[in-house]
Amino acid sequence: MNKEYTISVLPGDGIGPEIMLQAYKILDIINKNCMIKINIHQYDIGGIALDKYGTALPQKTLDGCKKSDAILFGSVGGPKWSSLPANIQPERGGLLPLRKFFNFFINIRPAKLYKILGYLSPLKNEIVKNGIDIICVRELIGGIYFGSPKGRKKINSKNFYAFDTETYSTYEIERIATIAFQLASKRKNIVCSIDKANVLESSILWREVVTHVSKKFPNIKLTHLYIDNAIMQIIKKPNTFDVLLCSNLFGDILSDECAILTGSIGMLPSASLNDTLFGLYEPSGGSAPELTGKNIANPIAQILSLAMLFRYSLKLNDISNLIELAVLKTLKDGYRTFDITDNENYITTDMMGTKISKKLLQMIRKNEKNIISKNF
Ligand code: NAD
Repeated sequence: MNKEYTISVLPGDGIGPEIMLQAYKILDIINKNCMIKINIHQYDIGGIALDKYGTALPQKTLDGCKKSDAILFGSVGGPKWSSLPANIQPERGGLLPLRKFFNFFINIRPAKLYKILGYLSPLKNEIVKNGIDIICVRELIGGIYFGSPKGRKKINSKNFYAFDTETYSTYEIERIATIAFQLASKRKNIVCSIDKANVLESSILWREVVTHVSKKFPNIKLTHLYIDNAIMQIIKKPNTFDVLLCSNLFGDILSDECAILTGSIGMLPSASLNDTLFGLYEPSGGSAPELTGKNIANPIAQILSLAMLFRYSLKLNDISNLIELAVLKTLKDGYRTFDITDNENYITTDMMGTKISKKLLQMIRKNEKNIISKNF
């Protein structure tokens, strides 16, 4: 009997539904041609949910996600909801509580520049001629974004002071460091841990604990960089990096720096996971209101997010590899959306989704013996 999985699909707002339709094409090919069954349940989240139910995270959505093996997410937010009270807006009222509810402490953001898209990078060709392949592992639910005390106090009628607190425990550092080392062991065996241990107490503990965890992974080369130096070295020599291990704040900054080196955010997927590797998979970009409804947004980040879902939560590496290869081959065939072309020849969101899904189907058919007959 075919193995069954259930995924919750949350397209959200803006370009979310348009690019999610392209991920559906991939899911359809897999359901029809591989010996697995993916049950798909779609739910509202973000602005659309606010409009329909008065909350960005309806109970029905949360209950559906709880019953699934993974969540495929589009994007939320947009100008329509940006004047609402901050705590009920699509991101703060929808996505953030969802991440918190499932205790997604791991954030994985690959920054990959394919060789054939080298012209997209703002870096010189001699630096990126072999492409870029970095993974940023960011601690997602601790550190200065959540540490207490946090607040603002009045000094006098004109002056305030505001404060945030960076806190990390041994346990929090150990668990995210372990994930980074495990990931590196399936890649180039290099972890670079980012901190500010020359100034911050929390970073001194971070460095000590990461060093301690590294003893369990003797094959992995561990280096440490201060955040300010890391920002420079990544630009100078991106190819010397493999896995970056970061706190919440430093990961927020570095993952965006890595993203811009690859040219378009429309190509970059991400995963947020908890300790059971249950996860939420989403494009790194947002709802791109200025692209919405024009059928021009790049669907590749959404499709690669689905590939990550197969890899990490469903543990179906073969399918994940096939989807990634279908994307690469489609790019090699010369197809581009507007954000990744250096000329006027580009195809629509819908066409890119169709091209990638057709390529996937061709590959599955060619590999019939290896893939289709495989009982996943
Ligand atoms: P954005 O990521 O939506 O847009 C930034 C730039 O990237 C824009 O130039 C946009 O055109 C481009 N871009 C994004 N996705 C693209 C794609 N698939 N193809 C081609 N180009 C793409 O960020 P923003 O403008 O800061 O925010 C817009 C809205 O999205 C806001 O309401 C914000 O709150 C929301 N947002 C949501 C998420 C999320 O759902 N996780 C993340 C970030 C921003």
